[in-house]
Amino acid sequence: MKIQEQNIYEALQDIVPQDRVQGLHIDGQGNVLFSIVIDSAQKNQQGTKMEDLRQKAESSVYGLQGVGKVTAILTAEKPAQADPHGMGKNPKLKLPIKKIIAVASGKGGVGKSTVAVNLAAALAKGGKGVGLLDADIYGPSVPRLTGLPYKKPNMTEDKQLIPFEAHGLKVMSIGFMVDQNTPMIWRGPMVQTAIYQMLRDVDWASEEKPLDILVIDLPPGTGDAQLTIAQKIDVDGAIIVSTPQDLALIDAVKAIEMFNKTNVPILGLIENMSTHICSNCGHEDHIFGSGTIETEAKKRDVSYLGAIPLESSIRENSDAGKLSGNLAYEEISSKILSSLHGQ
Ligand code: ADP
Repeated sequence: MKIQEQNIYEALQDIVPQDRVQGLHIDGQGNVLFSIVIDSAQKNQQGTKMEDLRQKAESSVYGLQGVGKVTAILTAEKPAQADPHGMGKNPKLKLPIKKIIAVASGKGGVGKSTVAVNLAAALAKGGKGVGLLDADIYGPSVPRLTGLPYKKPNMTEDKQLIPFEAHGLKVMSIGFMVDQNTPMIWRGPMVQTAIYQMLRDVDWASEEKPLDILVIDLPPGTGDAQLTIAQKIDVDGAIIVSTPQDLALIDAVKAIEMFNKTNVPILGLIENMSTHICSNCGHEDHIFGSGTIETEAKKRDVSYLGAIPLESSIRENSDAGKLSGNLAYEEISSKILSSLHGQ
């Protein structure tokens, strides 16, 4: 039997009134996500009580036939205010992770995910424990780039998702959680819930032995996912990937402004698909112009981390789930490590 929204509301009726349940989403496998809205004063005064309520709500939905995984989150909210999901009021998540880096871009298709995977792998090469979180809810490509299947991860006894392993990284992707053939329409609270789940409910590491670095592949642009991440966790630095074309750059500048507004430090800009190197003769060609990203970085007073050439081997390897092997990623990763060190 396919589980319906009404069944969920009924299961919750003695625990939370229906108008306090928001962003209810049931996927094709019967996995259920929703937020329980509580007012911020309640949350601060009665933290444990509210956590009991959350767990009770999760287990009563979990008991229904046809339900897979259940994730409920507490959302502090005062009705009709400028911060409609109470996101600014919720305390930040404390994760067993030492440093968090977000990889962003103003627009899609600039090679952000390819950069995220190859940089994370380069960071892990030096012996650090590195995780890669694909938070690109609109087009998760990390499973393909790491050669991992689009399938659900296993869970630990205490219901933590166990990340997959690839290229020496712990990998989690929204692509493992949602049905690839069913396009999802993401509404604000659902984005928040999904991002929360991938941060909080994943067995990244333990408090005794935290993960050294988590690299987050953000969706392109400046939407709810970016905002949730900026507000819910302490991001140590954002990297913005852009191609040298004017249009990509204009969007990259918007991303810079978003991070500045949300107080996320910017580690720097990366120019991707920079010089074209001919695979036959090795001739270098600046198809989209040269130095535009470096010039913009100077203008905006952010660091320029380097350029990655436009090379057919990068596309072939990444599309086959392999690392690109290009040295540019390693050079950029050392710069990132030293600037994280200096923080
Ligand atoms: P985004 O995450 O920005 O949407 P992807 O990382 O998915 O972009 O890359 C888009 C396409 O461009 C992929 O086919 C990828 O293999 C290719 N690509 C990325 N970087 C390079 C590069 N430096 N040279 C050649 N192809 C690249």
